[in-house]
Amino acid sequence: MRRTLHILLTNDDGIYAPGIAALHKALRRVGAVSVVAPAVEQSAVGHSITLAHPLRVIEAERRGKFFGYGVSGAPADCVKLAVLELLKRSVDLIVSGINLGSNAGVNALYSGTVAAAVEGVMLGIPGIAVSMDFCQRPKFGPAAEIARRLVKAVVRRGLRPDMLLNVNIPALPLRRIKGVRVTPQSRRMPPEGFERRTDPMGRHYYWIKPWGRYDGEEDTDVCALRKGYVAITPLQYDLTSQSLLKELRGWEWGRK
Ligand code: MN
Repeated sequence: MRRTLHILLTNDDGIYAPGIAALHKALRRVGAVSVVAPAVEQSAVGHSITLAHPLRVIEAERRGKFFGYGVSGAPADCVKLAVLELLKRSVDLIVSGINLGSNAGVNALYSGTVAAAVEGVMLGIPGIAVSMDFCQRPKFGPAAEIARRLVKAVVRRGLRPDMLLNVNIPALPLRRIKGVRVTPQSRRMPPEGFERRTDPMGRHYYWIKPWGRYDGEEDTDVCALRKGYVAITPLQYDLTSQSLLKELRGWEWGRK
């Protein structure tokens, strides 16, 4: 008999965020789901881990029932702690999300949602990060349904430890989503700046602010998402530049 698929569900918006609840509901139809997620929001913490403080764990409830473990750390902490310490059963797949806000393009590098999936692959467990484009009154149902179908499709193909996917979904009803595109990551930076404000003591402070539309190069994740497609981008965490590696090996570096 085949054993049930064991999914570790996490996010960076925090264990009480609506996006993780929607994904939990959808993924329970695919396998057994354990939730280990940050106790409070950890958006844009990237791949940080907690060294200077201990990690505290609370048992978080939803509608009066045990939902999962809330951890006083970053998403990467949650995955490490879950896999190495908290969960009794071995994890087959890590799903991170649904994040509110796209993690397409260079956002993938700032994202705690993506970092959780990357951490999984570093530990030998496939990871899928799921994000939905930002909107004012988010409805996560369609994105959760798309994520469920996608997870099923990936599992059907056979899970492999290097499977690392960054999935970005438009904030649209299912019928208005045009389809799925497998795309490379856009390298372009979003236009952004800082808003300078004044605090009650008359001192200045700064707040990062998007500075207009974020357009990606043709056939990239950012571009596909903008056109109404689900963008799937396969990632890898080895940051080596193969082209520079080759070139630098040809340089004269001296004898030492
Ligand atoms: Mn987030």
